[in-house]
Amino acid sequence: MKPVLFTPAYLAQCYSSSYAEAQQKFKEHTCNQLNHSFYQEFTYRETGPNGEPLITAVSWQGDVDAACVLVLQSATHGVEGFAGSAIQIDCLQTLTRETLPAGVAVLYIHAINPYGFAWLRRVNEDGVDLNRNFVDFKQPLPHNTGYEQLASNILPAKLSDWEGATQKLNDYRDEFGQQAFELAVSGGQYQFADGLFYGGTQPSQSRVNLEQIIVDFELQKRQSVAVIDIHSGLGPFAYGEVICDHPPGSIGVKRARQWYGDSVTEPALGSSTSVPKQGLIDYHWHQQLAERVCFVTLEFGTYSIEQMFEVLRKDHFLHRKTVDWFAHETQQIKHEIRRIFYPGTTDWQEMVLMRGRQCVHQALYGLSN
Ligand SMILES: [Zn+2]
Repeated sequence: MKPVLFTPAYLAQCYSSSYAEAQQKFKEHTCNQLNHSFYQEFTYRETGPNGEPLITAVSWQGDVDAACVLVLQSATHGVEGFAGSAIQIDCLQTLTRETLPAGVAVLYIHAINPYGFAWLRRVNEDGVDLNRNFVDFKQPLPHNTGYEQLASNILPAKLSDWEGATQKLNDYRDEFGQQAFELAVSGGQYQFADGLFYGGTQPSQSRVNLEQIIVDFELQKRQSVAVIDIHSGLGPFAYGEVICDHPPGSIGVKRARQWYGDSVTEPALGSSTSVPKQGLIDYHWHQQLAERVCFVTLEFGTYSIEQMFEVLRKDHFLHRKTVDWFAHETQQIKHEIRRIFYPGTTDWQEMVLMRGRQCVHQALYGLSN
């Protein structure tokens, strides 16, 4: 008999094959919880490809007056929501009043970018990368010279130019190096609205909702808050990297290392698979809660970054025009983007849940001490 860590039935209970299924499961498991205290929905003006409503669901587990709070967030990058949603649903089933330390509650933010999750995109309804959207729009926006140089090759005007454009991207990488290439493409840009890693021109609806959640749950008044924002697509297959974007040497970094151990990486120091980026959600939390928050990104690896950039280029090319969801070409690209961010194999699913549980328990223990 094959060794089984999680039964196929349990994996099927946690993982969903669409946003709509994930939302339904999250709601069901929240309402089944004996010790859940609160459930709230934020709705969006758009709908999913099958007309389904788009919702960010928020649930609170444990004492409403808890001094310390663990925030678990999924689908910042839409299509990456399969992993995060599964970890949240696993936690809803495994964390109970007995396993939650005294004085610690859990706040679940399910599908903060429901449009991207439903339409299988990294970006939101306006083509905006939520994790580049947290800049001060009253100030001059950051300028990304590298992206500007590469923009017409990242998204060529015609499909027939694709191979030549890809060759020019490779030439840039060969000339300036892998890190400079990744910074140019994925560091964040505020110039090309149809492009990749675009931060937008104003706070997105998801950002407004998230800011409201921080206020509604009085997170600024808590003694200590741990945020785990769950992503996928970067790094070794199924490995969960704990990425910390607090400033090097800060209390936030020290706390992350204390809680999650020496596997914590820092983009600012070059120790992460992620390069430093503009407009991260992290920065808003750092600003609002200062030394009382420890924010980490839990990033699960899938395939290579080349494959990821390629499918993102194809997806953005597709969405330049109104998308016919059921067209063969659309379905082909959506199948591929889903696979690149959510391989969905049993080993990948198991490793994600195991690492998710480990990090959640590390955070709960850290908060309670
Ligand atoms: Zn991501």
